[in-house]
Amino acid sequence: MAETTATPVTRSLIAPARYVQGRGVLADLGSYVAPIGSAPLVLTDAVVRRMTEATVTESFRRAGLPVRFEEFGGTPTAAEARRVAETVAEHGCDVVVGLGGGATIDTAKAAGDEAGVRWVSVPTVASTDAPTSALSVVYTEEGAFESYRFYTRNPDLVLVDTQLVADAPVRFLVSGIGDALATWIEARAAQRASGPTMAGGLATHAGIALARLSWDVLWENALPAVEAVRRNLVTPAVEAVVEANTLLSGMGFESGGLAAAHAIHDGLTAVPHTHHLAHGEKVNIGSITQLVLEAAPSAEIREFVEFTARLGLPTTLTEAGLGDVDEEVLRTVVEAATAPEETIHNLPFPVVAEDVLDALTSVEALGRSVRAEAGLPEPQAPEQHRVKVPTARMA
Ligand SMILES: [Zn+2]
Repeated sequence: MAETTATPVTRSLIAPARYVQGRGVLADLGSYVAPIGSAPLVLTDAVVRRMTEATVTESFRRAGLPVRFEEFGGTPTAAEARRVAETVAEHGCDVVVGLGGGATIDTAKAAGDEAGVRWVSVPTVASTDAPTSALSVVYTEEGAFESYRFYTRNPDLVLVDTQLVADAPVRFLVSGIGDALATWIEARAAQRASGPTMAGGLATHAGIALARLSWDVLWENALPAVEAVRRNLVTPAVEAVVEANTLLSGMGFESGGLAAAHAIHDGLTAVPHTHHLAHGEKVNIGSITQLVLEAAPSAEIREFVEFTARLGLPTTLTEAGLGDVDEEVLRTVVEAATAPEETIHNLPFPVVAEDVLDALTSVEALGRSVRAEAGLPEPQAPEQHRVKVPTARMA
């Protein structure tokens, strides 16, 4: 037999060591952290700290843990991660608890990795699928995507208090749904291309199944969950969506594979016009663009656009602040989205920048026509549609 030098095909799945979700579970944080470390540092912002400090302090006291809060600077930059890592070392902490949104959690992971200690994710919103993964997204001071940073392990614990999620503005949950719906769209494409996952190697059946399950759970539960969270209610639909946005989407994207939707998102962060949008809102523009680019059946694309418009996600360039911009601006987006290291190259065909540009441009008319057909209001440009969100930590 001829000798082969080909690298053997590997498949892998990675996961957080423990996932805990439930109403009021923040009160038990201390007992879950105690087996992981004896000197925690809680990274959070002032708004989240005000909401959670009494509960966290009491739960740590009951578990015999000291409590030390550190204020998050607001943007998950490399410099901010270094600063927090230095604080961890200075105080001899042995576990970093990221308490808040995706940006806080990404910084807690980066700081834990740099300081050589373990880390824990405590999302207070279900706005992204950042909490479970072994990677962070690093942004520039201006909020533009800079790079992915990969770690050797996932968080030792992900703990989600569903009452906190239900008490937060509904836009956070909606954004998380946008992020999570992309998971299956991207994993499906990456699988067709036998593309690598963020976990390394090819996807397992388990990784693909989690991505698909996230999609199914959301189509069934997203609309009632959004209605419930508008009233700060924790219903079974809310529990289902929180799990889909956080655990299923988190493991599904990491071990199932990313493709165009997140690359388009990254491209959108390269222009200031879109900075009013949350992560999952930009991802939704990316999902629609990917569906167009990969020639998904028209009925499927229109159904997706209508569903996400009903949820309150942006489905037109107008809502993304790109309704009447020069083509140069869209070219900047596409150039960043098609950079050689981008996950868009996981699509099962060669990606040509002109094709991506035309797919992105087509989103405007597509979104408008679906909205009109469904009897939904005309899309609004950012000045009118922007919802005031108490904390800006939505990356
Ligand atoms: Zn995402």
